[in-house]
Amino acid sequence: MADSTELQTRDTIHAGGEWRAAVSGATREILDPADGRPFAVVAEGDERDTDLAVAVARRAFDEGPWPHTPVAERAALLRRVAGLLVRDREKLGLLESRDAGKTAEEGRVDIDCVADAFRYFADLVAGEAPGRVVDAGSPDVHSVVVHEPVGVCALITPWNYPLLQASWKIAPALAAGNTFVVKPSEITPLSTVALVDLLTEAGLPAGAANIVTGPGHTVGARLAEHPGVDLVSFTGGLVSGTKVAQAAAPTVKKVALELGGKNPNVVFADACATDEGFDTAVDQALNAAFIHSGQVCSAGARLIVEESVRDRFVTELARRAERIRLGRGTGDGVECGPLVSAQQRAKVEEYVESALKEGAVLRSGGKRPTPSAERPESGYFYEPTVLDRCHREMRVVREEVFGPVLTVETFRTEDEAVTLANDTEYGLAGAVWTADPGRARRVAGRLRHGTVWINDFHPYLPQAEWGGFGRSGVGRELGPAGLAEYRETKHVYQNLAPKPVRWFAG
Ligand code: NAD
Repeated sequence: MADSTELQTRDTIHAGGEWRAAVSGATREILDPADGRPFAVVAEGDERDTDLAVAVARRAFDEGPWPHTPVAERAALLRRVAGLLVRDREKLGLLESRDAGKTAEEGRVDIDCVADAFRYFADLVAGEAPGRVVDAGSPDVHSVVVHEPVGVCALITPWNYPLLQASWKIAPALAAGNTFVVKPSEITPLSTVALVDLLTEAGLPAGAANIVTGPGHTVGARLAEHPGVDLVSFTGGLVSGTKVAQAAAPTVKKVALELGGKNPNVVFADACATDEGFDTAVDQALNAAFIHSGQVCSAGARLIVEESVRDRFVTELARRAERIRLGRGTGDGVECGPLVSAQQRAKVEEYVESALKEGAVLRSGGKRPTPSAERPESGYFYEPTVLDRCHREMRVVREEVFGPVLTVETFRTEDEAVTLANDTEYGLAGAVWTADPGRARRVAGRLRHGTVWINDFHPYLPQAEWGGFGRSGVGRELGPAGLAEYRETKHVYQNLAPKPVRWFAG
């Protein structure tokens, strides 16, 4: 679908190894956020398609063969998928760029990271011991703790990193031997559809991987409540996440939630003492806030800077923010694409308006850019925006904007910096910039966030857990804990010399 300028139409519901249209026959146009024009048409599934896909996944779990496939074969399949992703990197990267509005290079990097996730989970399961023998305190007992797949997994994903977020769920789910139904965001389903094709090409048995494209309030809600689903892993916003948890509660399915963030980027004056240090901290603050137009769960949307360097720091930051080149993701030299949808841009505009009313001072952006050939008026572009003189009572500081909006707050002491950085209901990620190693450790130790960067922003590693404190979520993705989410733990206790216990005398 990526390279054609024609409207591409295809069946995008996959259940039992076949591609299907929606039971209702409904379809949805997928828009290119750079010009607002449709470029693909997909099936718009609903509860009936969901039930069908869950039934298929259930059968494939209960009857196999995937859950009983030897670990080495499962790992080999995941590695084949990684190889196919590398083969299709350019095509998939462009597809991601067009669907989500990110630059082509970001799209390619996303595909590299997706391949890394498949390789990581392949290596992790392949290298594990099959179980943990427990000392039961008797030579007549053999006691072992083993891990088994949870069952049918419902995987619900957002639009900002469509394939990356899906891979953080699909790779461990398959590595652990589960079957799944994935529901990508209704506005960016295309790369996940393409991945299901690659899983089939890699040799995954029919029924193990299923996808239903369609909206959250029908497909997603049905998956969350479905009695045939054993686990729901959700990445998305706080409001939808709480609905998923509520819908999942009556069937006591396992729930993993990766939600939003309002991530502090704390800059101490000592980090800016040299020209090089200053340049690095400003550059990374820009990157933290504006990559993918700020539509990143871990975006450094709150700059918390020591008061003595504020003026210099913010002046340079705003100067550089104004120079960020906006345009269609595939355009030459484009550094930032559009926002993903008209609705998302309207939300960002509303936040900026409310911040200005509440007293924030606009230092850059705050408007749509002048239209040009590389950013047509019909695209959903918005300028990188720096709002100075912000404080925690402002909505723009408390709530996740999920757009190119950076707020600036200041502090005088280390304690004050930590208090501000932790003053959020979220707790996904945060950074501290300082030249003092002792302070770096102290502050990192006090930040209540799932990832803390010292003198950096944004890197993550597949082998390190990702997830949030507070309302940023429940559970972890990536790392060993990201595999454990998809497993049940079973204790098998074997009595090698059974005898009566005579508890009851009769
Ligand atoms: P969203 O919550 O609107 O949608 C996410 C997914 O949930 C979509 O597939 C949507 O269709 C589905 N959904 C919506 N309502 C549902 C319901 N009632 N029941 C079941 N499913 C439902 O989020 P979004 O706008 O697509 O994504 C942006 C959000 O995702 C941001 O808040 C961002 O911080 C978060 N996010 C978090 C992480 C992380 O790792 N913590 C990563 C990426 C994005």
